[in-house]
Formats: sequence, C-alpha cells, structure tokens
Amino acid sequence: MVIAALSGMCFARGRAAVPQSGLRTIIIGAGMAGLLAGIKLKERGETDFVIYEKGSSVGGTWRENTYPGIACDTPAHSYSYSFALNPEWSAFYAPGPEIQAYFERAAQRYGLLDAIRFETEIAECIWREGQWHVRTTDGRSDRAHVLVAATGVLHHPHVPKIPGLETFERPWFHSARWDHSVPLDGKRIGVIGNGSTGVQIISALARRAETLVHFQRSPQWIMPCPDSMYTEADKQVFREDSAKIEAVRNGPEAAARKARFTSAIIDMDSPELAEIQAIVERNLEESVSDPVLREKLRPNYRAACKRMIFSAHYYNAVQEPTVLLENQAIDRVEPTGVRMKDGTFHKLDVLALATGFKVDQFVRPIRMIGEDDLDLDDVWANGPRAYYAVTVPSFPNLCLLNGPTGPVGNFSLVDIAEKQWDYFDQLIDAVRAGRAAGVAPTMAALEAYEAARNKDAMRTVFASGCKSWYLNAHGIPQVWPWSYAHFVDVMAAPREADYRLLQPIVA
Ligand code: NAP
Repeated sequence: MVIAALSGMCFARGRAAVPQSGLRTIIIGAGMAGLLAGIKLKERGETDFVIYEKGSSVGGTWRENTYPGIACDTPAHSYSYSFALNPEWSAFYAPGPEIQAYFERAAQRYGLLDAIRFETEIAECIWREGQWHVRTTDGRSDRAHVLVAATGVLHHPHVPKIPGLETFERPWFHSARWDHSVPLDGKRIGVIGNGSTGVQIISALARRAETLVHFQRSPQWIMPCPDSMYTEADKQVFREDSAKIEAVRNGPEAAARKARFTSAIIDMDSPELAEIQAIVERNLEESVSDPVLREKLRPNYRAACKRMIFSAHYYNAVQEPTVLLENQAIDRVEPTGVRMKDGTFHKLDVLALATGFKVDQFVRPIRMIGEDDLDLDDVWANGPRAYYAVTVPSFPNLCLLNGPTGPVGNFSLVDIAEKQWDYFDQLIDAVRAGRAAGVAPTMAALEAYEAARNKDAMRTVFASGCKSWYLNAHGIPQVWPWSYAHFVDVMAAPREADYRLLQPIVA
C-alpha cells in the first residue's frame, strides 16, 4: 500500500507540533539537487523555503570542478532536468562549463536566486519540537519543518598522505581546487590518479605539456564512446521537437543501453558483463600499439568493477610522445618532483592530484541531531545508511538527495535526484495535510533494506575483486545493487508500513 492514504496509519513514539500555517523548508546546497528541490517546491506553490549555499554561486560540483578536460560522461540530454530539456547542448557529452551555465540558467529561469543565501555555511541542524533548528557557522539561526540535504556525494577532496607533499616547492592542488593561475603549456606536469577525473585531465593536457607524467597506481578499463558534437542542424531538430530529446533520454536505444548496463553491474556472472568485458579488452588491444604500454594499461580486475570510464581520447593521449605512464609506486614528493620507490625521479613544475573524494561524508561535517538527541555521527559510526538512500530513522522530515547507497556511478544523478524528490514529496504530504508533525522511516525498515542490500551488493561487479570508492571498510559496495527499473519502482510511492508518523502535540 502506498503512503498517499496515510489517514489510517497508527502513530508511533514521538511528538511534535503540527504546523498551523504551511510548511517551511530549508535546503542545504544550491547544486543540481538543491536547485531541483527549490524548483519543485515553487512548482507546488510553496514559497516559504530558503536555500543555504556556502559558495558564492550555484552549480555545486560543476562550480568546484574546473579542471582541464572536465566533462560529464553521462549523455548531456540525460544529465538535464526532465522539465528543462536543453536543445543547445554542444555535444553528446557536455563539457563542464556548459553544464555549470545550464544550472545557472535554471536558477534564474525558475526564480530561485532570491531564495538562495550565498556564502552561508550550515554548522548544525537540530530536530526539536517538530522543527529543524539550523545554525550557520557565523552564528545566525533559522528553523523549518522540512530539511533537504542536497550536499552532494563527491564533495570533500581526498588528499592522500604522500610523504613530502607539503615540501613540494612548485604549485600543487587537488583536481577539485584547480589553480588556473598556474601555467601549463610547455610545462612538466604530474597527474596522480586515473579515475574518471584523471583520465579527463590527461586527455586534455597531453598535447599541452612539455612532459606529462601520469602516475597510475592501478590501471583502468576504458569504454570507447562517441566524441560527437551536435551540429547546428541537430540543435535545430531538438529545438523544434522535444520528442527528439526525449528519444535520446528514454528512447528504445537509451532504455536498452541502461537495462544492459544495469544487468551487467548487478550480476557479475551476467552475459551483459561478459559483453562489456569483451568491448574494453578489444578497445585496449586495438587502441594501444606498444605491447609494453598496453600491458601497463591492462587491469587485473574485471570491467566495471571500478566506476566505468568512458573516453574517446585517453588511449590516444597516453601514446603522445609527451606522456610518460609511470606505474611504479610513489615513494615521496621532494621539493622539485616525485621520487618513485625504484629511485626514479620525475622533475615537475606542477603536480595535480586527481585522487578522488572522501565519500562517506554526505551531509557531514554539519552536526545533525535527530530525535532523542541522536547524533548522526554516532548513528553513522559504522558507515552512512539511509532508507532507500533518502530518509533516516529518528531524523524526521529529513530528505537526503543522492544520499548513501543510491544509484551512483554511471547513472544520471539528475534523474536519480528527481525520482528521490518525488518519493520524499509524497511522504511530506502527511505533514502538509496536518495529519502528522513529522515522518521518518522505521528502524526495522532500514535494517531490512540494509540486510537485503548488503547481500545483493556482494553479487554486483563492484565486489568482484578491485578497490574502489564504492566499497566500505568491510569491502561491501555501498551502492544500489538492483536494477534501475527497481529503483524507479520503489521511488514511485513510499510504503506506508515502512514509516512512522510523529504524533502531533495537541495544545
Ligand atoms: P577516483 O575514482 O576515486 O580515483 C582516484 C584515483 O586516484 C585513482 O586512480 C586512485 O588509484 C588514485 N589514488 C588515490 N590515492 C592515491 C595515492 N595515494 N597514490 C596514488 N594514486 C592514488 O576519483 P575521481 O577520478 O575524482 O572520480 C571520482 C568520481 O567522480 C567518479 O567515480 C565519478 O563518479 C565522478 N566523476 C564523474 C565524471 C563524469 O564524467 N561523469 C568525471 C569525473 C568524476 P587506485 O585506483 O589505485 O585507488
């Protein structure tokens, strides 16, 4: 049974005041997901909301990541709001600045700028008597009935503790903090890391550097992909007929691709994964001519075990005469370069760390206190958990967009966030209607979800024998282990039995 008819539901432990005159919502973050929540609230006529953003502009990850070559390897037409299709995308895979401009336009077009408090960082959120009491780092306070944490997944740069890093006398920075004042052309550049970010950086810089040392700890499988720009004629077709955009997003070809890909990742023994394996192996054989380099680039784990990388350029880039693929272990950073364990020294003018993110933070470091003074840091001491990735027991009226264990990786997070919002929006209807002061999932529902998820996660390709940011400390993938179709299904309507409503305080 769905939650649309909550009136027959029993109230469980917990009391709070029912709002008398409409709900107020606080959204944390003005990236893709926070803007989405604001747009959706406006759409339903709710104007009492505010978006707190610690940066000085919208865009989230697209504002922060400006490294050379940045793009989104999810098709641009899929990486768009379903209600704001964009016929003007310049390419099948859009470059980062264009995506940033898209979200800036969305904030303007949907009239959100007045609702955003820029350069305002949230320090803590405390649930007390039916409201979230929020305090900013500069001491201001606010409160609201509903709290939306749209704080992103890959937000806090991971800077590895490489001995000597602090002693490097030339510029160095993390990929998400790119220093554009540092010259790159004709320089000796080092890039550590070859995840999706490192691969894009290498592809962009190979021809600009005097030498580009690509420090690779583990090789990556590379999926070939089209490098297609949209022509003016293509865009005209999209402008005249949005069904053509819909076809790119959800047409039979896109649906088949999505179904094939999810079948592959959720079952490491599937024929679909074998097919992907054959494609990436062929790509390596056919693209890299030097057998020594080819072997350096060959992973010893299965395709899609780490996040699948789509690139039309990487193998060409690593074969440029300027590029040196270094696959020995780094010993330390010295004032003028990087020393390898075998004694080799690479003199560098600049060092970029494409070393990924701290992936277990989510809404933290914001201090989150739920019912009965529960601290989210304690609740998540063994790792972040959320029911269907969206809600947390004892943290009423809290929505995590792109929270822990949701579909990540090669899905469009825009699409995922839209479906999560629609799910949460239905939950809050009970509070809007005055039938409850708050709504939170039961612990039993979360435990059952986690038990099933952990079990099925071990059948996914992410558990097939590689290290990646998907794995928790016990080697269990912290991802959605089921099909995309199942995600769509469960997000369509919350299950009544999985939620408890907070009994209103009667004055
Ligand atoms: P990542 O996938 O976590 O990759 C980090 C890289 O740094 C890996 O190659 C890792 O090596 C290496 N590394 C980390 N610590 C190191 C150390 N101490 N010494 C040497 N190497 C070290 O990070 P990312 O590339 O930034 O990507 C993160 C995620 O962002 C992606 O999975 C994706 O979800 C998203 N992203 C998406 C796009 C897109 O186009 N849609 C683009 C960029 C990023 P090991 O493999 O050996 O650990």
